[in-house]
Amino acid sequence: MSRRRPGTWPDSLVRWYRRNRRDLPWRRETTPYRVWISEIMLQQTQVATVVPYFERFVARFPDARSLAAADVADVLKAWEGLGYYSRARNLHRAAHVVARDCGGELPCSVEQLAGLPGFGPYTTAAVASIAFGLPFPVVDGNVLRVFSRFWAIAGDVRSTRIRECIRTRLADAIASQRSPSDFNQALMELGARVCRPRDPDCGGCPLAQECEALQRGLTRDLPERQQRRRIPHLRVAVGVVWNNGRFLIARRGLDQMLGGLWEFPGGKRERGETLAETAVREVREEVGLDVRVVRRVCTVRHGYSHFTVTLTVFECELRCDPAQLRCTRPTAWITLAETDRYAFPGVNRKIFAVLRRC
Ligand code: SF4
Repeated sequence: MSRRRPGTWPDSLVRWYRRNRRDLPWRRETTPYRVWISEIMLQQTQVATVVPYFERFVARFPDARSLAAADVADVLKAWEGLGYYSRARNLHRAAHVVARDCGGELPCSVEQLAGLPGFGPYTTAAVASIAFGLPFPVVDGNVLRVFSRFWAIAGDVRSTRIRECIRTRLADAIASQRSPSDFNQALMELGARVCRPRDPDCGGCPLAQECEALQRGLTRDLPERQQRRRIPHLRVAVGVVWNNGRFLIARRGLDQMLGGLWEFPGGKRERGETLAETAVREVREEVGLDVRVVRRVCTVRHGYSHFTVTLTVFECELRCDPAQLRCTRPTAWITLAETDRYAFPGVNRKIFAVLRRC
């Protein structure tokens, strides 16, 4: 694909955005910090879900200094339910860098932004353009879908070749724009609301006049569908180990998936084990306690980005002195009423609801 001058579509796109943009809290008061928080929250997450989280988060941590000063457990608690918790841990790490090295303000150079934890090419371009007006185009899944249609590009849009081709053309287009911020937000808005994955609203699209897919009747065929990878499924058992009306939880290591969140001791079933045997073994291996399964509480399914899990929960009673507890990670004995003080993966909230009914 050759480089060519953008047509009139960038101006049409920005005009459309200015007439149709949604009233969102991070657009009402635009500071680099608020742009940053909103862009991190919006990754993989719907706008409607993000809005209340955003408002609570910036009320609790109004700037990079207050975020840096917070305990990571409080940041994870504020993030609880939003998923992809590495985003929260990276925000916290980046806030430390900003507070320590940049006087508490996000730097306005692309090189410095790109060096912060959690700043990949998309976030760097989004913050640089929206917060500082720098001409770097955002390229994410939505943008790739829109322009695979607009320029009728065949092939796997996730491939480096096509991604870079689209980025290069968008860089040409944004360079001529007076407001790189509006241009990028217009791209995001168009991908979310008009050029949708299944039913693009071509009748309401500001790019329709120049859209090659529309002119060639290819809007349903692009982007080309790639074969989905089969994602693994895990069978996991966990133990709710009671002691004097309290049960045991352990905090996951910060470098693990769901790092910093709390969980019941448990793990993957090994070959030849029953799930009850898995729970007993995992409790012994993880926290050094001998337990006996009293009953199965529930079985819940949960999906993560790279796998799905069926998790079976067993209530267990101690067969040893609780002082034998040995764990390299932080642990706590808590009541059901105290669960709100800790950040848990979403699947645990389902389990607590069942335990409360027991
Ligand atoms: S005209 Fe239709 S297919 Fe083309 S960019 Fe607009 S919404 Fe997408």
